[in-house]
Amino acid sequence: MKQPHALLVASPGLGHIIPVLELGNRLSSVLNVHVTVLAITSGTSSVTETETIHAAAARGTCDIIELPSVEIDHLVEPGATVVTKILAKMRVMKSEVWDAVKSMKKKPTVMIVDLFGTGLLSIVEVGVMKKYVYIPSHAWFLALMVYLPVLDKVVQGEYVEIKEPMKIPSCKPIGPKELLDTMLDRSDQQYLECVQSGLEIPMSDGVLVNTWEELQRNILTAFREDGELSRVIKVPVYPIGPIVRTNGHVDKPYSIFEWLDKQRERSVVYVCLGSGGKLSFKQTMELAWGLELSGQRFLWVLRSPTSYLGACSSGDDQVSSSLPEGFLDRMRGVGLVVTEWAPQVEILSHGSIGGFLSHCGWSSVLESLTKGIPILAWPLYAEQWMNATLLTEEIGVAIRTSELPSKKVIGREEVAFLVNKIIAEEDGRKIRSKAEKVRVSSERAWTHDGSSHNSLFEWARQCRLLH
Ligand code: UDP
Repeated sequence: MKQPHALLVASPGLGHIIPVLELGNRLSSVLNVHVTVLAITSGTSSVTETETIHAAAARGTCDIIELPSVEIDHLVEPGATVVTKILAKMRVMKSEVWDAVKSMKKKPTVMIVDLFGTGLLSIVEVGVMKKYVYIPSHAWFLALMVYLPVLDKVVQGEYVEIKEPMKIPSCKPIGPKELLDTMLDRSDQQYLECVQSGLEIPMSDGVLVNTWEELQRNILTAFREDGELSRVIKVPVYPIGPIVRTNGHVDKPYSIFEWLDKQRERSVVYVCLGSGGKLSFKQTMELAWGLELSGQRFLWVLRSPTSYLGACSSGDDQVSSSLPEGFLDRMRGVGLVVTEWAPQVEILSHGSIGGFLSHCGWSSVLESLTKGIPILAWPLYAEQWMNATLLTEEIGVAIRTSELPSKKVIGREEVAFLVNKIIAEEDGRKIRSKAEKVRVSSERAWTHDGSSHNSLFEWARQCRLLH
C-alpha cells in the first residue's frame, strides 16, 4: 500500500521551525508516514535558522523544503512587530505554498500549519487535504487563543487596564500578569492578527497541542465535553505532547561537558533565555551579581544566537564588558559563561543540572520537565507570562520572580534567594519532587498505550493517515 504523506508548514523563526521539525520527526518515526516539512524561512540569512534546518535534514526522517518568505514591508505599518510581520508573511504566501504542494510528486493528504500559518488553511479548499493546526504550546494558551475573539467583543478598553482577571471557560482566569504581549495594545496590528488566528483555528479539522492529558486534564476534558469551550473551538483537540528534541544530535562542546562532569549531581543552575531572550545591561549585571551572591554553581548562556551547533567559548571581550568587573575571574571553577548557541537538551540531560533559570518558552519548559528539572521562571515575552503562572500556580514545578522581569529589574538579592531556593533549600524540595513526578508522567504519556501515544494514533486514524 502507498505510504501516506503529511505536509507540515513551519513559519519563519527558530522558535517556530524547531517544534514543527520535531513534530515531523515524531510523525514519521511513530506512524511511519512520509513527512514533508515546508519551512518558510525569514528571508534574511539567519545562520542559526539555516543550520537548524540542515541539521534536521541530515537526520533524514522528513523531507525538508525551504521556502524563503516574500517581502511584505509594504503591507505592514512602519515599526510593525515581529509577530505582525510573520503573520503577514504567512498570509501572503498562499500561492507559493500551493505551488509547492502542486509540484510534489506524491500529493499530501494532510496539511498541518503552526499557529502563525492559520491563514493558509483556506488553500486546501481547492484540494482534498485535511487540515490541522499544531499549537506547540499548552492547552490554556490554546483556550485563550480561540476565546480571544469572544473577549474582543465583550471586553471594553485595554486588557491591561481591566481590574478583574478575565474569565475563560474551564480555565484559570487571565490577569494582567498573564496577558500575551500581543494583547497589550488592542489597536496594534499584531493584536488584530491574533484575533483573526483565533477565528481561523476552528476552521481546521482539528488541533494538535503539545501537552498531555495528565498535565492539563481539566482543560483538555473541557475541550472534549459539551460546554462553552468546546463550542468555541468546534473541532477535536489532540494532546500529543511532550514533543521535544531528544539529545544526541549535536556535537557536545568539550569545554561545557568537561566542566559539567566535574560538578556534583543536581548542583548546577542552568541559565538560558531561549533563542531570542535578551536582558538589559542593568539586568545582566544584577543577574551576574545574584549568581555570585548565591554561592551556587551555574552554567549561563549569555549571548544572542549566532551559530547553532557552534563551539562554545567563555569569557570573550564582548561578554566580559556586560558583566561586573572581575566576575569571570572570581567565578572561575564556580560558574561557566558561554556565549554561543548551547546544546540545551544535552545540557539539561546532564546529571549535574539541578535547576533551570528559564524565560519559559514552551520548548524550554518541556525540555526541562521531561528531565525532571525544576524551573526558576523568568518570563520575558509572548505567552511566557502565562507559562510562568501555569508552572508555579497550577503544576507546582517552578518558582518565579516577584515582579515581571520584562517590566522591572530583578535585584541581585532576589536572584540569589531564588537560585538558592530552586537548587539547595528545603523550601524547594516540594518543587523538585513535583518536577520528578511530572517527568515520570511525561514519559508515561508516550509509552505504548500512553495518553499522547493513543491521541496521536486516534488523530492519524481520523485523518486517514492510518487505517
Ligand atoms: N535553544 C538551544 N540553545 C540555546 C538557546 C535555545 O538549544 O542556546 C533551544 C531550546 O532548547 C529550545 C529552543 O531553542 O528548543 C527555544 O524555544 P523556546 O520555546 O524555549 O523559546 P523561544 O526561543 O521560542 O522563545
